[in-house]
Amino acid sequence: MKRHLLLALPVCLFATGSRPQVTDAEHYLDQFIDTTVSPRDDFFRYSVGKWLANHPIPPSERAWGIYNVVQEETYQRLLGLSQSAALAKSVRGSNAQKIGDFYAASMDTVAIGKAGFTPLAAEFARIAAVNDRKSLADVIAHLQYIGVGPAYGLFIGQDEKKSDRHVVHLYQGGLGLPDRDYYFDSDDRAKMLRNEYLIHVARMFTLLGDDSARAAANAVTVMSLETELAGASRKLADLRDPIANYNAMSLAGVGALTPSIEWKEHLAAGNIHNIDSVVVGQPEFFKQLETSLERRGLDDWKSYLRWQLATTFAAQAGGAFDAEHFHFFGTILNGTPEQRPRWKRTLDAEENYLGDALGQLYVRRYFSPKTKLRYETLTNEIFDAFRERIKALDWMSEPTRQQALKKLAAVTKKVGYTERWKNYSRYRVDRKSFLGNTLRGNIWRSDFYIKKLHKPVDRLEWEMTPQTYNAYYNPSNNEIVLPAAIFILPGIPDSLVDDALVYSYAGGTTIGHEITHGFDDQGRQFDEKGNLKSWWTPADEKEFNRRAAGIVRQFDEYVAVNDIHVNGSATQGENIADLGGIQLGWDAFKKTQQYAEGKTLGGLTPAQRYFIGWSLGWMNQIRPENLAVRVKTDVHAPSFLRVTGPVTNMVPFYEAFGVRPGDKMYRADSVRVRIW
Ligand SMILES: [Zn+2]
Repeated sequence: MKRHLLLALPVCLFATGSRPQVTDAEHYLDQFIDTTVSPRDDFFRYSVGKWLANHPIPPSERAWGIYNVVQEETYQRLLGLSQSAALAKSVRGSNAQKIGDFYAASMDTVAIGKAGFTPLAAEFARIAAVNDRKSLADVIAHLQYIGVGPAYGLFIGQDEKKSDRHVVHLYQGGLGLPDRDYYFDSDDRAKMLRNEYLIHVARMFTLLGDDSARAAANAVTVMSLETELAGASRKLADLRDPIANYNAMSLAGVGALTPSIEWKEHLAAGNIHNIDSVVVGQPEFFKQLETSLERRGLDDWKSYLRWQLATTFAAQAGGAFDAEHFHFFGTILNGTPEQRPRWKRTLDAEENYLGDALGQLYVRRYFSPKTKLRYETLTNEIFDAFRERIKALDWMSEPTRQQALKKLAAVTKKVGYTERWKNYSRYRVDRKSFLGNTLRGNIWRSDFYIKKLHKPVDRLEWEMTPQTYNAYYNPSNNEIVLPAAIFILPGIPDSLVDDALVYSYAGGTTIGHEITHGFDDQGRQFDEKGNLKSWWTPADEKEFNRRAAGIVRQFDEYVAVNDIHVNGSATQGENIADLGGIQLGWDAFKKTQQYAEGKTLGGLTPAQRYFIGWSLGWMNQIRPENLAVRVKTDVHAPSFLRVTGPVTNMVPFYEAFGVRPGDKMYRADSVRVRIW
């Protein structure tokens, strides 16, 4: 089961000069609000339009907004930590040595470009040596182990029905384009993208040394093989159903789907030993994989594997590989003219491979026990608010309510940072080869997960670092995880942020969002112990689905970009969580002194500041190309709709801004969505 992230991780960073100015608390919001727009017509534009107009998307970015502003503060902090580590003479094998050498190797673009794919020579040779189906299957498994995902997806995670153990999940995958729909959509842009993709794949083969006729033929092979796999892949919305995507099988069972693969030997070739069962996400996908293995010659598969290996590591191979990779995935697909500065790409890679090493330094310097306590208290208040709402729900029967309260009481709250840092002692990092560091990093990560197959689940672990501007709910642990960075309001000290913003932007709604994920269309199917097991009466389940259908309809109607509509089904879990989050934050805010006193600040009432704070949390503008990709691949709605969608279901919003029938922000009472 995929994690319920607060937002999909963008690959986008910063340019100078975009930080909100440090200002006094009273006038903090002035830099965002566009007073020429009425909040009753377009609440998003009103609340953050001024800042967005003053901060266009830099050429190296796909999108630009609050995420980037917070990220810039984090970058400056991590840069300092990395540069001093690179200069210091640290003990060989220490985290400081690894951070310093990783940083230095990644910044040395001359050495990177000179080496190209040389550090992967043994991997390409392995593919070239494939001479029968057994060696083909072995290489596929080995590539999975080093971080390439050819033919299908493999990940190790908690068993959805037995959350106290880890299992191997076999999933649809193996594509080069971001989603299965790209292989079939018939609009002009989709056709253009397929055409450009063919050109790009051919260029990559040319860079690998093929002559142009060979390269073009190989690209056609890759496209046709991937199209076969895509044809058997489920659509984004169909991946939401946790039961339909859970098929526990013995190795013999999955072997029956794919007789060409002897799974025990196959998994062993990827260093996975001594397991007798797996969870298969989409059995029909593996039947198609069998057909493709049977019908296609080894040469087709070898071309496809070369491509998969090359595209996975192209950015790390530098030079022409990096440039060509960016040309297609950055510019053509996502509309970004320029690469981001090297130092930012370096810090992203460092975060990916050594995130917990940085995290330990980060929290020591930047997350005080006092701040941690503040957000732990806030977390408890939001839990109280949800408990009260569940108790008061008029549509839920008593038996389901009791189970819901039991599940809520069992939620683990993780705030700030982990107490179980990852141990990198077996990860060797040197200054010689950036690509070598990333290859060994992938292997370290595979080993890390493979070990879990034979150990009890450690529920203290985190899947995010404290410096991550994001959060998640993990249904298998029934836990919410809130990294330190999600609480940062940029450009103002934590102590000066007023409660309206604390409860909306900086914490309250985020905590509420994550808690309600435990009860959304997916999360509600897991019990308090994190197992996929129904605890709803049939009548309550039906009523929940009826209400959820309202939010699906609401978002289906919205246009994301050009004539592309939001996918209401695929985004429903996030939209339910957003609505829950803003309601719970509001309930808790109403109990504060600031709300009770009702004093205006900067000319705004406490309620107005609360809703503007919500908008600030989603302040973002995005390239239309990137937004089009996201509509197909992201289970979150576009930011501006995450602001305006939920508030139009809330009476307190209408009251705060005097929204009346006839205003664009007004939705009739009969279509407003009420879940929690
Ligand atoms: Zn979410």
